[in-house]
Amino acid sequence: MDKQSFKIIVKGVVQGIGFRPFIYKLAKNYNFNGFVKNTKNGVEILISDASINQLQLFCRDIKDLSPPGAIIRDIEYKQCENTNYSEFKIIKSEHSEGLTAIPPDLSICSDCIKDISEPDNKRYRYPFTNCTNCGPRYSIIKNIPYDRSKTTMAEFQMCESCLIEYEDVLDRRYHAQPVCCHVCGPQIMFNGQTGENAFKAAAAIINEGGFLNLKGLGGYQIICNAADDKAVKKLRKLKNRKNKPLALMVRDADTLRKHISIDSQKTIKILDTPSAPIVIENWGKLPVSAYINPTGEKIGIMKAYTPLHHILFSYLKTDFIVATSGNLVDEPICINEQEAYDKLSHFSKDFLIHNRPIHTRVDDSVITTAGNKEYMLRRARGYAPLPVILPEKTCLCIAGMGAHLKSSITLAKNDYAFTSQYIGDLDNSKTTDFYQEVYEKMKRLFGLKPEILLTDLHPDYFSSKFAQKICTEKIVTIQHHHAHLYSCMAEYGITDNVIGVIFDGTGLGSDGSIWGGEFFLLQKSLSRQFHLKNYLQPGLDSAAKHPVRMLTGYLHQMNLLNEHIDKITPLIRQNEINLIKKMTDRKLNSIPTSSAGRLFEAAGTLLTGETVNEYEGFTAILLENIIEDEQTSEYYPWDLKKDEIDFKNFFEGILHDFDKGLHPGVISKKFHNSVAMMITDICNKIRQQSGCTSVVLSGGVFQNIYLLEKSEKLLQKYGFNVYIHKNIPPNDGGISLGQVYKYILDNR
Ligand SMILES: [Zn+2]
Ligand SMILES: [Zn+2]
Repeated sequence: MDKQSFKIIVKGVVQGIGFRPFIYKLAKNYNFNGFVKNTKNGVEILISDASINQLQLFCRDIKDLSPPGAIIRDIEYKQCENTNYSEFKIIKSEHSEGLTAIPPDLSICSDCIKDISEPDNKRYRYPFTNCTNCGPRYSIIKNIPYDRSKTTMAEFQMCESCLIEYEDVLDRRYHAQPVCCHVCGPQIMFNGQTGENAFKAAAAIINEGGFLNLKGLGGYQIICNAADDKAVKKLRKLKNRKNKPLALMVRDADTLRKHISIDSQKTIKILDTPSAPIVIENWGKLPVSAYINPTGEKIGIMKAYTPLHHILFSYLKTDFIVATSGNLVDEPICINEQEAYDKLSHFSKDFLIHNRPIHTRVDDSVITTAGNKEYMLRRARGYAPLPVILPEKTCLCIAGMGAHLKSSITLAKNDYAFTSQYIGDLDNSKTTDFYQEVYEKMKRLFGLKPEILLTDLHPDYFSSKFAQKICTEKIVTIQHHHAHLYSCMAEYGITDNVIGVIFDGTGLGSDGSIWGGEFFLLQKSLSRQFHLKNYLQPGLDSAAKHPVRMLTGYLHQMNLLNEHIDKITPLIRQNEINLIKKMTDRKLNSIPTSSAGRLFEAAGTLLTGETVNEYEGFTAILLENIIEDEQTSEYYPWDLKKDEIDFKNFFEGILHDFDKGLHPGVISKKFHNSVAMMITDICNKIRQQSGCTSVVLSGGVFQNIYLLEKSEKLLQKYGFNVYIHKNIPPNDGGISLGQVYKYILDNR
């Protein structure tokens, strides 16, 4: 067969993640000669002697076998003038002018697990073992270019034997910046003990029912035996978390596999990736305390993802531990010893620590599944700060500053949008400090200077005020729910012709009211087609904390309160009812809202009797949790008046079903089905006028998986192409990306 020379360009996130050594080894396998090098356009490969057939196989292997952390967008090849190379080489980089992605922290790989398990290996039971395919990255990188001297590993000088591995192109640790071993790397400590003794003593604390504060990869974790009812209950008390589910860590994926139903096997694959997120699923019966999630069947589990966790597990009697973020309520996760001693000592006086500093805090990521596919809820460790690659370029550097809750920041340039890790709710000074820290660090790490800042319409959000404060540049506001729509569009590269169904809690609308139950149409321009009917939200934000107030407000404004007062009085005091009536009658201290979040929370309160949101959306989550399996095709009707969808009949129907003694779980199912029917019906109306057949579902309410799957199925049945989130959360964690993408499309 004819041998020819080819030039291959690989585009995407392919630098700083061991991509060139990967190509080197692959080319060796194919007996190719030529070279590989980094350029500003990506990675360039020259092959001097291949058949077209071999070349195609080679390109397929690049795509299929590339190292974890690589995102390949495009592989182009073309034949070039015949060249003659006698070997395959890695050529030192030209100065790279392109944007370089910062790799995320990755879970320990199977080769490194082998290393720490074999007594003859030099890294036997070494808790900081890593290689090119795994280990700390984003959490330890201080500056670019990504090089050991610019990480928190700088203070550890490589020993001779590690250096040999580091410089050997055929070694798994070639150019692995954090490479280290017992001799030269960080060490573990526990109450004055080190090494195995530290692990033994720390494990004994957990085995005996106590709590351990553990310095992990992206921050501290509080750990206890997940099977120990007493410990779990005590932790709930200390954390002041009555109902919010606690995250678990399992010894490894195989152990989990033994315990679960066949249904969950697919989900285990997500848990067992290098990103190793917390995966929320109904796993079936697990040998853990019922207090892990007192109000639902789903539990969030991650695998042990560092060698440190693996070695700790080797001394534990349990396969499951609680591993919850080491922080005070609503504050960011602790990363240094002083912070941890100050804040976590009231959980436990026992600290398993180490001397590798954490530079950037990164919480554990949280994923669930929708229609058997990954569905991101909290994007952090293992994912951030990987970019979303956009279909349109921007020559300006722009920054999406996010919203207020579950905030994140996105910096974008060219066709890359780098979305930060989950930062948190910007309600206290610790979290706002963290927010500012992330902004500064991202600018430095990506070498970007934002020229335009995009903020929420709401001027009082910390993110909006922060932008005002630092801005010598231009600020552009983006409406909250527009940003939700565009965040999902960005994931799929959609640029036009789409219906956006955005169901959300709170976002300031362009008319000054609070939006959150929105139907948009993007067809050359963006318009608000329909929305849930505006009802007054009595007591403003307090109704989001106390859904019983919203419920009372709805029923009063719908003229249903008097008839059904017997169902309300057990939930709320009479003087509060009177106050809510007065506020809504006189339009005092209340604001019109079309929020779907408020609707779900109020329905949740009515059906479960829970009157307060212990955490965001709690009663809406309960509403989903109580759904009964029972078959019902019944639904409640709705009314359309001009562009307003009135859901008064939902409440009337629910109340009458209540009177008839129908099970709340069946009523909840009817309610969810009604909303899905209503969504489909309204989308049909928009399609009739516009011909538009694509629908995006986004906003915090679509964290409700029953509603999401039901709506998706129904829309598909009626011939719509439905787009739901994948790697970016449907909640406000996606806002910063949506802000950036909308600005780019608007200014094409
Ligand atoms: Zn490894
Ligand atoms: Zn070493």
